[in-house]
Amino acid sequence: MQRVYNFAAGPSTLPLEVLKKAQEEFLDFAGTGMSVTEISHRDKNYEAIVRDAENLVRELLNVPDDYCVIFVQGGASTQFAAVPLNLMHNGVADYIVTGNFAKKAYEEGKIYGTANKIGDSSDKVYTYIPELSSLKYTEGADYLHITSNNTIFGTRYPEFPKCKAPLVADMSSEIFSREINVADFGVIYAGAQKNLAPAGVTIVIAKRSLIQDPLKICPTMLKWSVQDANGSLYNTPPAFSIYMADLVLKNLKEKGGVKAMNEADEYKAGLLYDFIDNSKLFKNNVVKKYRSIMNVPFVTGSEELDAKFIAEAKKAGLVSLKGHRLVGGMRASIYNAMPVEGVKALIQFMKKFEVENG
Ligand SMILES: *Cc1c(COP(=O)(O)O)cnc(C)c1O
Repeated sequence: MQRVYNFAAGPSTLPLEVLKKAQEEFLDFAGTGMSVTEISHRDKNYEAIVRDAENLVRELLNVPDDYCVIFVQGGASTQFAAVPLNLMHNGVADYIVTGNFAKKAYEEGKIYGTANKIGDSSDKVYTYIPELSSLKYTEGADYLHITSNNTIFGTRYPEFPKCKAPLVADMSSEIFSREINVADFGVIYAGAQKNLAPAGVTIVIAKRSLIQDPLKICPTMLKWSVQDANGSLYNTPPAFSIYMADLVLKNLKEKGGVKAMNEADEYKAGLLYDFIDNSKLFKNNVVKKYRSIMNVPFVTGSEELDAKFIAEAKKAGLVSLKGHRLVGGMRASIYNAMPVEGVKALIQFMKKFEVENG
């Protein structure tokens, strides 16, 4: 077996211990004589997984009791619609557009009401987050939507906006990598395939008092209150993805939880940014205080050299380093499951490449 270091943005690398555990119990889960992919979602052995995963999310993020934690399908992109469908009672919401996913969420919001773009960093190719003190919130807005970490452009909010309207955050590419105060948010959602589990499941954490009255046109499947009342088992859930999420969450707890993970993530990102900032060949274009610790885009300044870098890195066992098609260049996604050895191996390779091509 030859495992590589996988820098993909999502689906992305998972902890090796978790993959091994899943492999080990794949044919016979918990003495049932069945695979976890074969068990009824109403079986008590399966329901125990869902409850355990929910409880671990609550424990690891210190989720207050008046918030629900639900597991839903359709990826983060479906939540772009679920947000207005559950919350847009006054028909108006604010959006800050800091990247491609933020823009998609904003465009989806426009389908259901007035979506006001109160911040936008597209003028500088989304290399920064708009200054929070300059934002003008709409009076009576149902919510403010932000994308806390911008996967494609490699930015994150160092701190979060404070406004009267509930704050809704898409945390797909950074959930469990930083400590947050859940009570500062109305809703947090995250597709699992970046920093948690295989694709197929999305976590929604929502303040229950906000979600009791979804719009009339809201499909039942998208009603967070319905998913909450049914403990994420309203219909057949993405059973295997939730099982994997549970294993990753257990692993995260063993490793010291979100605080320990954040320290490790800051350390890994620091190593990579330090190297890039001192390099004569590689450059990261993000304004320093907004740099993501999860997604690190970089360029050489030559498309030809970028392509050569990506091809040679792959031969060296460092894969999926191609940047998103919107920005080009390279991007190293260094999520929780990327070991520090992987980041060090990447830096060693970049050093060598620089000497040979600089
Ligand atoms: C990947 C990603 C999405 C889209 O997720 P899907 O699960 O593919 O719908 C949305 N928001 C952010 C921040 C992402 O990184």
